[in-house]
Amino acid sequence: MNTLELEAHYCAHNYHPLPVVLVKGEGCYLWDENGKRYLDMMSAYSAVSHGHCHPRLVEAMVEQAQRLTIVSRAFHTDTLAPFLEVICEMTGQPRALPMNTGAEAVETALKAARKWAYAKKGVAADKAEIIVCDGNFHGRTITIVSFSSEVQYRDQFGPLTPGFKRIAYGDVDALAGAITENSAAFLVEPIQGEAGIVMPPPGYLAKCAELCKRHNVLLICDEVQSGLGRTGKLLACQHDGVQPDGLILGKALGGGMMPVSLFLAREDVMAQFEPGDHGSTFGGNPLASAVALEALKVLQDEKLVERSECLGRYMLQRLQAIKSDAICEVRGRGLFIGIELDPQRISARAVCEQLMVKGVLSKETHETVVRMAPPLIITEAQIDETVDALAQVLATL
Ligand SMILES: *Cc1c(COP(=O)(O)O)cnc(C)c1O
Repeated sequence: MNTLELEAHYCAHNYHPLPVVLVKGEGCYLWDENGKRYLDMMSAYSAVSHGHCHPRLVEAMVEQAQRLTIVSRAFHTDTLAPFLEVICEMTGQPRALPMNTGAEAVETALKAARKWAYAKKGVAADKAEIIVCDGNFHGRTITIVSFSSEVQYRDQFGPLTPGFKRIAYGDVDALAGAITENSAAFLVEPIQGEAGIVMPPPGYLAKCAELCKRHNVLLICDEVQSGLGRTGKLLACQHDGVQPDGLILGKALGGGMMPVSLFLAREDVMAQFEPGDHGSTFGGNPLASAVALEALKVLQDEKLVERSECLGRYMLQRLQAIKSDAICEVRGRGLFIGIELDPQRISARAVCEQLMVKGVLSKETHETVVRMAPPLIITEAQIDETVDALAQVLATL
């Protein structure tokens, strides 16, 4: 059996990967087992914003791995506090709770919001409601898929978790209409990544923040994908000048090396957690903390947020200039770009397969959107290469 057959034989079929076997990564490049080189336009759904195997991150990881890796939070370590100090100062959030994956940090936020609603807002027992949006993606746990609008994510996984109310994304009036005395929080992505890089109308988040404040509802921004420079600001909510009551980070926080996530929040929200309420064996471990701290330093030292802003604008312009009937819309912010294709003319999957042949790796989201979300260290020349490849693919298909 070759590698593809072996994986098909032993691995659960819960993904439909492109038929390429990657063996090496460096910066924006990936190599397959035949030595063919590709430009990475996926960055592992933004987990690899720093580029593959960044030397400083590899060094931080190896150094820490040789010293101390996992002890659990039964004890203090010398790496967690310095990491949390930097991210709290960067984001203006007073406290952080370390987890591993994005979904775990979302679960943490949901637990915090519910307990806060009972303790601080006086919501009656088991009545707390959390408002979410159509098209949301917050992860894959049973509770999180319970409020997904994607039937496939929920179907046959019931019984589902109650306590969620779903409204239209980008619609402030829908939020106003959904808020009740039982509303604990509004959980929202400032830009919906998995939905296909969907951007709400300008000022949406600012108006939501105002509504939430007026009704004592927590605004919790899921920036697992949009955060840490992806959209050309440190946080996507900063485009609207919004400081959320709770903030969820993941993906790029681990520097493309390992899973690291955080729920950050204002004091009275985080104060709901007492010893024993919540935890994670691996959350905040020394290896993760050392890598994440270095990832934040690299973000600053290499001005990755500014790069994303400037190169994102360049890439968006170049993509919008492609003349093709197959393209309905090119939209995005920073290096977080979606190309909406006309499904009557072409499938996003077919475009990704042809891009692969031309040495560019991306992945479709839903059937109609090709995602362009490269490592933030990408160069203008590499963007040109990608755009030219896409234009050629669209011209020939
Ligand atoms: C990827 C993602 C998650 C889930 O993160 P995992 O690490 O896969 O659990 C949550 N929210 C958003 C917005 C995401 O893009």
